[in-house]
Amino acid sequence: MSLPLLTAGDLRRMGAQAPQPAGGGRCPACGGLDCPGWEALPGGFDAEVLEPVGTLRDPDLYEPTYEEHHPGGTRTWDAAAPIAPRSHPYNRSEAWRCRTCHRAFLRWTEVGGYYREDRIRALDPALVVDA
Ligand SMILES: [Zn+2]
Repeated sequence: MSLPLLTAGDLRRMGAQAPQPAGGGRCPACGGLDCPGWEALPGGFDAEVLEPVGTLRDPDLYEPTYEEHHPGGTRTWDAAAPIAPRSHPYNRSEAWRCRTCHRAFLRWTEVGGYYREDRIRALDPALVVDA
C-alpha cells in the first residue's frame, strides 16, 4: 500500500479537522503525546492507536533535501518551527492521525550513525507553510 503524497494544503486541512483538545480534555488513546515540537516517540506508547494518512516523501525525488526552512530563526526542535513539507525533516515524514479522535501528527525516523529515533510532532495547521 502506498500512501498519497500530501501538500501543504492537505496538511492544513488535516490539522484543522482535528483541533487540539481544548480545556485540558485528553483523548484516551493519544493524550499521552505531548509534542508541539519534534519529540522522541515515548517509550511504551502504543503506536497502534495511530493510522497513516499520507506521506510527504516525494517518490520522484531520489534524495530529498536536507535544507531546513527557518525564516524566523527557529531551530529543528522548536515548537514554533514552521511545518514546511518540502524541507527537512518534513520531506521524510508521514502524516498520521489518531484512530479515536483524528488528531493529526507527523512522524519521521531520524537515522544517525549508531541510532534510530522515531520522532513525532503534532500537526498544528497554523504552522504549515508551503516551502
Ligand atoms: Zn486521540
